[in-house]
Amino acid sequence: MKIAIAGAGIGGLAAACLLAQDGHEVAIFDQFDSPRPVGSGLMIQPLGLAVLEACGAGPSVRAAGQRIARIFGSETTRGRRILDVTYDRAGRAQAQGTAIHRAALHAALLGAAEGLGLRVIPSATVQSAPMQGAKRMLHLANGVQHGPFDLVVDATGSGSALSPLRARPLPYGAIWGTVPWPKGTALPSNQLSQRYFRASRMAGVLPLGLVPGREGPHAAIFWSMARRDLAGWPQRPIDAWKAEATAHWPDFAPFLDTVTTTAAMTTASYSHGTLHRPFAPGLAFIGDAAHRASPQLGQGANMALFDALALSRALSRAPLGDALPAYAQMRRWHVRLYQGMSAAFTPQYQSDSRSLPALRDWLLAPLSLTWPLPRILSKLVAGELIPPLAGEVFRSP
Ligand SMILES: Cc1cc2nc3c(=O)[nH]c(=O)nc-3n(C[C@H](O)[C@H](O)[C@H](O)COP(=O)(O)OP(=O)(O)OC[C@H]3O[C@@H](n4cnc5c(N)ncnc54)[C@H](O)[C@@H]3O)c2cc1C
Repeated sequence: MKIAIAGAGIGGLAAACLLAQDGHEVAIFDQFDSPRPVGSGLMIQPLGLAVLEACGAGPSVRAAGQRIARIFGSETTRGRRILDVTYDRAGRAQAQGTAIHRAALHAALLGAAEGLGLRVIPSATVQSAPMQGAKRMLHLANGVQHGPFDLVVDATGSGSALSPLRARPLPYGAIWGTVPWPKGTALPSNQLSQRYFRASRMAGVLPLGLVPGREGPHAAIFWSMARRDLAGWPQRPIDAWKAEATAHWPDFAPFLDTVTTTAAMTTASYSHGTLHRPFAPGLAFIGDAAHRASPQLGQGANMALFDALALSRALSRAPLGDALPAYAQMRRWHVRLYQGMSAAFTPQYQSDSRSLPALRDWLLAPLSLTWPLPRILSKLVAGELIPPLAGEVFRSP
């Protein structure tokens, strides 16, 4: 088939690689002038890494990324453990998460795509994908039209102009930065560490491994912020924020040494929503174009990768008209479960609520440390509470 991929982000590049491997003729379009991923770091879960391996990006991701063995969060008032999830008690590397800078992940996927002879058409802002007979055209903002295509894959992320999804803005977002891993820190370099005060303050350190163009290991740092305060961030005095963040979590201090202006931290707002029918004739929605959630469970990139794999498997087995509902069916319950979990967990960590964090600290946290919940939580963060592709055999390598 002749397939257009709109959006050369995580889901789009993964779909491009998998579909090209299956013999489809793939064209990739992105709004960027040259590949330029925004943002800081993210977590790839073990099965997400398996998709990246299938794309041909596995070796680069493993070389640049940092294995994460544990997720640990404590609260400020008494220093109690609130979240303590070990991926794999036996410490097997393939069962752990991988933290990676977005630029490194993007470079790995782009390298895999280019290795398959694919090129991204840059400066191509997709505006619409109207039907032409049984096929679809791609109309760009600069007036250029491409097509016709048998299938358009919308992988343009949370700002998609093609997706009918109207997501609900979440009350909290965050500021994110990428900093060198400091020498004198007591924080483990294979652990996502977080510190909470109620649900209104959260600081985090995610060890990232290598960042393209920079020397040595790095970390992504983040600080939760109410949506209402995000716009005012650039004007905030940096030293006052650093003093506040350090008082909240003294271990955060060495990570702030290189943060000297507010421009060093990028603001991110979050939204939540799910398309119940992630396809239309000749059009498939994947990744954030199909479902959006806060990054609290660290699943967004993995969901985009699972969507790409499900779409390629469905298309390899059935004609287009049957393959698109089959793709949706394969992903339905996993997406619903994780979207539901994210909606339930996020307000416990990012909201103005006083009662939800109290429930978290006094009831849910002690429960979460009691058998069999640690095992279930390990499965939850790994994205494997239920199979990501219903009815499919799919394991980490
Ligand atoms: C601060 C933050 C932290 C996160 N942390 C994690 C984490 O730890 N783990 C995790 O799994 N997920 C995390 N996520 C979520 C994850 O980043 C997304 O879910 C994931 O990137 C979605 O992939 P995607 O391919 O759908 O979209 P994206 O990766 O956003 O790619 C979209 C692409 O489409 C292009 N594009 C957009 N509009 C157009 C257009 N009109 N025309 C052409 N091209 C267009 C963009 O330039 C981009 O290249 C985080 C998100 C944020 C904001």
